[in-house]
Amino acid sequence: MTETAAPTPAAAPPAANNHFIRQIVLSDRASGKHGGRVATRFPPEPNGYLHLGHAKSICLNFGLAREFSGTCDLRFDDTNPAREDQEYVDAIKNDVHWLGFEWDALRHTSDYFEVLYLCAEKLIRDGHAFVCDLSADEVREYRGTLTEPGRNSPWRERSVEENLDLFRRMRAGEFADGARTLRAKIDMASGNINMRDPAIYRIRKLTHQNTGDTWPIYPMYDYAHCVSDAVEGITHSLCTLEFEDHRPLYDWFLDQLDLPDHVELVEPMRRAGLAGTPSRPQQIEFARGNLDYTVMSKRKLMALVNDGLVDGWDDPRMPTLAGVRRRGFPPAAVRAFWERAGVTKQNSVIEYGVLEGSVREELDARAPRRMAVLDPLKLVIANLDDAHAEALEFPNHPKNESLGTRAVPFSNTVWIERDDFAEVPPKGFHRLVPGGEVRLRGVGIVRCEEVVKHADGSIAEVRCTLDADTRHGKPGADRKVKGTIHWVSAKHAIAAEVRLYDRLFTVPDPDDDSDGKTYAEHLNPASKRVVQAWLEASLADARPEDNVQFERLGYFVADRHDHAHGKPVFNRTVTLRDSWAKG
Ligand code: ATP
Ligand code: MG
Repeated sequence: MTETAAPTPAAAPPAANNHFIRQIVLSDRASGKHGGRVATRFPPEPNGYLHLGHAKSICLNFGLAREFSGTCDLRFDDTNPAREDQEYVDAIKNDVHWLGFEWDALRHTSDYFEVLYLCAEKLIRDGHAFVCDLSADEVREYRGTLTEPGRNSPWRERSVEENLDLFRRMRAGEFADGARTLRAKIDMASGNINMRDPAIYRIRKLTHQNTGDTWPIYPMYDYAHCVSDAVEGITHSLCTLEFEDHRPLYDWFLDQLDLPDHVELVEPMRRAGLAGTPSRPQQIEFARGNLDYTVMSKRKLMALVNDGLVDGWDDPRMPTLAGVRRRGFPPAAVRAFWERAGVTKQNSVIEYGVLEGSVREELDARAPRRMAVLDPLKLVIANLDDAHAEALEFPNHPKNESLGTRAVPFSNTVWIERDDFAEVPPKGFHRLVPGGEVRLRGVGIVRCEEVVKHADGSIAEVRCTLDADTRHGKPGADRKVKGTIHWVSAKHAIAAEVRLYDRLFTVPDPDDDSDGKTYAEHLNPASKRVVQAWLEASLADARPEDNVQFERLGYFVADRHDHAHGKPVFNRTVTLRDSWAKG
């Protein structure tokens, strides 16, 4: 297993990463179970884009394989052709690569359709499956409830010969959608409803993105998943907690099929050139990753896109991986976040601010500093002449000298942030006021001498004098004033579109509809604001996806798609401090 962008793995994982699944793997390796191998897989259904929750599973599966020199496959769980699309397949591959992982085998559940079919025939021959003619409604009615046992289907005692004949005719496309199913013959009285003769195959005459019109029948998830794991040689099949009740079924199918001792069943794979050494995988469940202030079900994310409430799957406000990428989250921050969150069996919701904290930490370490003014006010330095021009040397990073320095042009007219000046200052205001002083970052101390207004009373510019004795290298350079503000030379500034993104929802639990409001009614109306800003000249060289800190304002990223040389577009990734923090 190789990794594309991640740092070299540390020898010992952080404490939170020494989780129960890692312990299981360690003890399996010690006891020689699975021949000491570690083989995992990430099995998304290509019916939407990956989100931050999926990243937890990706980091876990690929991370374990990496740590134990094992393998991790990317397997598209494509058993439901009605909802799946190539667009999603491509997006998922991109997102896994972006996160910094490379799969070993790239597989599709549909690669195993022939094997799955042969396995189903074996179940029939062994008396473990039957063709059932009940309609979907009747099946529901026969199933029973949590408190009442179900009833046997009237078709349950068909002979093996009849079952085989009917199943082959299902495959040949002789019957209409929904007319029959193949069901496992387990126990209609089981306390676990998943074990009450669950469906194995259903008839669906749909064109499949990989297999075209070859198959009029499609395997059900619980059946396809465990068999796929086994034929792929998976050792540890990691899934989320809601599958805990499905584990007996997972085990039941694999016990009946006993694939390691019936390798003839994987012959179609071998013919197709896929290595087929079946394993007996074990399913292990862990708690989903949840974040507050967001929704993370593909259905709801899809609705946000389809209802036009966001600008597509990769809208920088979306919790999709494509969205957070466009927002400017570094993949290392997403990995570090899930690593710290750990892996347990307890469901919990993590504060979105914790993720933003990981993003700030990563960007603080490596994003170059730049100056930008988002809401400009003109400041004229009256004691410098109009032709004044100099280049000031600024460090690119306050702590990391290896990021070097840059020349920042300075002249007698600069843009400052409108709210860094107050005619009538609120209490505790330490920036520029009439008659007051402030330090222009990297320049020296200016005093506001005059406020020039437009006819309507709004402020046109502030006129200041620069105290030449406070400039770099002069004796007064260390003179203290309370505030330091950033600026951009008006003559040299470049104009840019800056998109100020904020959280998409205003409430911690948008899924909670107990107040009668749906998640769509909790959207934050201020989640996107677009401003025309002035940037320092060096940002003309920014490339799409470059991360920068605009000093005092936050971390920003050049938009992956819309930013171009001569037409800069930056997205706010995150502010410097958490404005959502409680209290
Ligand atoms: P959703 O509920 O968003 O539709 P899903 O589970 O149906 O997600 P899949 O494409 O089947 O989506 O998921 C692929 C893998 O990612 C599965 O193994 C699933 O358990 C895992 N996964 C999905 N959501 C999360 C999450 N929030 N935390 C951890 N793992 C997750
Ligand atoms: Mg799923």
